[in-house]
Amino acid sequence: MTRDSRYDVLFEPVRIGPVTAPNRFYQVPHASGMTNALPRVRAAFRETKAEGGWGVVCTGACSIDPSSDDTPLPFATLWDLNDIRAHAMMTEAVHRHGSLAGVELWHGGAAVMNRASRLPPLSPSGIPWMATHVGFMGNLRPRIMDRSDIRDVLRWQAEGARKARSAGFDIVYVYAGMGYLGYEFLLPEYNHRTDEYGGSIENRIRFVREMLDVTRDAVGGDCAVALRVSLEELRARPGTHQQSEAHELIALLSDNADLFDVKMDSSPTDCSASRFTGEGSHEPVIDFVKRMTDKPVVGVGRFTSPDTMVSQIRRGVLDLIGGARPSIADPFLPNKIKEGRVDEIRECIGCNICISSWHDGVPVRCTQNPTAGEEWRRGWHPERVEPAQKREKILIVGGGPSGLEYALTAARQGHDVTIADAGTGWGGRLTFEKTLPGLAAWNRVVDYRLGRLADLAHVSMYLESPLGIDDIIEIAPDHLVLATGAEWTRMLYSPLEIPVGQLDHPEIYTPDDIAAGRLPQGPVLVFDFDNYYYGGALAEHLAARGLSVSYVTPAGQASAWTIMTNELPLVHRALLRRRIPVTTLHLLIGFDGETATLAQVFTGEEISVHCRAILIVGLRRPRSALREVLDVRQADLKAAGIASVTTIGDALAPGAIAHAVHSGHKAARELGRDGRELYRRDTAITDCEPGFERAYAAE
Ligand code: ADP
Ligand code: SF4
Repeated sequence: MTRDSRYDVLFEPVRIGPVTAPNRFYQVPHASGMTNALPRVRAAFRETKAEGGWGVVCTGACSIDPSSDDTPLPFATLWDLNDIRAHAMMTEAVHRHGSLAGVELWHGGAAVMNRASRLPPLSPSGIPWMATHVGFMGNLRPRIMDRSDIRDVLRWQAEGARKARSAGFDIVYVYAGMGYLGYEFLLPEYNHRTDEYGGSIENRIRFVREMLDVTRDAVGGDCAVALRVSLEELRARPGTHQQSEAHELIALLSDNADLFDVKMDSSPTDCSASRFTGEGSHEPVIDFVKRMTDKPVVGVGRFTSPDTMVSQIRRGVLDLIGGARPSIADPFLPNKIKEGRVDEIRECIGCNICISSWHDGVPVRCTQNPTAGEEWRRGWHPERVEPAQKREKILIVGGGPSGLEYALTAARQGHDVTIADAGTGWGGRLTFEKTLPGLAAWNRVVDYRLGRLADLAHVSMYLESPLGIDDIIEIAPDHLVLATGAEWTRMLYSPLEIPVGQLDHPEIYTPDDIAAGRLPQGPVLVFDFDNYYYGGALAEHLAARGLSVSYVTPAGQASAWTIMTNELPLVHRALLRRRIPVTTLHLLIGFDGETATLAQVFTGEEISVHCRAILIVGLRRPRSALREVLDVRQADLKAAGIASVTTIGDALAPGAIAHAVHSGHKAARELGRDGRELYRRDTAITDCEPGFERAYAAE
């Protein structure tokens, strides 16, 4: 296939100081949950992006000194020779594909709690960052940096830059964003200093300028020096000589950096979920940067459309198309555009499960790309599967995310695939969930798989086909896969935090009822102890249909788990905008058709709420009826030649869509393999190779 010539501009090289990016696709630094304890996992994860055409591939935040640690969140380090060697694995891997490797050197300042070192965090003026996220909260307040502390950080940055050069990086960052140390100097709320580092914008940027200058001296013209800076707050502040302080910062630092990597100030605005924010949402904040500097500018915006990317370049917003999530969902996005295969892009759905991985402290997981993080430990490639040794006939019952992913993977292996679903459309749970407020982009999970399945031979797809045991025996596949999903129950929740008992009344609904179009009448109370998006999204959905809705949860916040995906504040905002009252820390204990009885989780004190219907968004159970019949009739299955029955996705264990896709992919890869495939265990590098040690010692 040939590329659309409109996209040629995306494949132009871009000079960044002393180095040249081979194209405009720039994987900006992003958290991967892969610390130096997982150097091979990390190298393979980043290498896959270089192989897929990203011209620049960066690390995540990389601490320059033990005086800054983000424990227990996963962060990388560049403290010693072992760390250099660990990072060198990644740079060598990226260079194998002709891409540049960048490193985001980082000092967390007062935004980290130094739980490992127990050193008081450093900060310009001792102002703490008071996180409300349980995982981020701490109770060790920062100390004020004196001049010798500033000199120390500058020295650590210079040493970090030298180590980065030794590790083979081409682009070395100074990080002044997202609440971390450099950023704290920029904002007067954090920076109350009265010396030359505080006061005017010229003074507040001094520390960042010095960080850039020591970095440049350290790398000695071998590496480009990049500034990553958050501009949201500064853009909102009028400048003295320019329109805003953000304008002034770029103008004042233009000669000190080779590249500007510009972003928002907090994770929820920088990396916002598609449920509440569209593609290209940073533009109103960063659109001015290119006018203030002749240095290349990179920014992000969950770009997956080549037309949007070209528009960003042509309109003079960006020089380099930054990608974090789009590069996780599809490491081969650039090559697919280059080769005229735009339809094959596995577009990021903006669900932020990847971000939740970092909050969970584990390697990155992705809803769209089940191979993310599995490149080394399971040997999975996002675009290639091992061809089947023998083409076999596979029947998949259920066409939701897990069934479709299994079908696609098995068809790529060369199997003869039949997939059937009882419903009128493909996508299982997503056929309804995509219609909920803000969730339309999630259907890319289905669109991508249907698009790819359409291109493959030996695939038969049947809708409106509920299959029972006799149908299965008649079809007589070699292998049977059950992807039949899960059902919501009417279970309640106990003060011991376990689903218990059941509430029965004709006006008790589950999400399955709503999905089937059975809508309650009159005021409805949504009782949510699932805690992810569904309860909040359904409350919004019912309110949008004109129903009076109230929301109750035993958790401390609405959709409490969405703190992990950066959505929680926006969920609350959305519920408030729809005038849905939120009652937290209460259990539902009774309902008589007119009144719901709630009990406070700690005291048991009861309150009554008037409502005519209740929607319980609580516990799901695998849809197991078919499986149970199959278990009874194993002899018939054997007689029909069905060699294996595998259960995947929600039918195996209900969970987020990411888990269902991963489950389908894993089961297909493991078909025909003896025994269970465990993943390979990575180990930290603790013993440097002498050759490398010399290279560093020669600095
Ligand atoms: P997952 O997330 O694991 O893919 P879903 O609930 O999204 O699960 O999808 C399960 C799909 O399986 C639904 O579309 C449902 O209609 C379908 N299904 C369940 N039982 C049968 C059956 N016996 N025959 C055909 N389709 C079925
Ligand atoms: Fe995109 Fe979701 Fe994958 Fe993150 S997890 S890269 S938001 S599809």
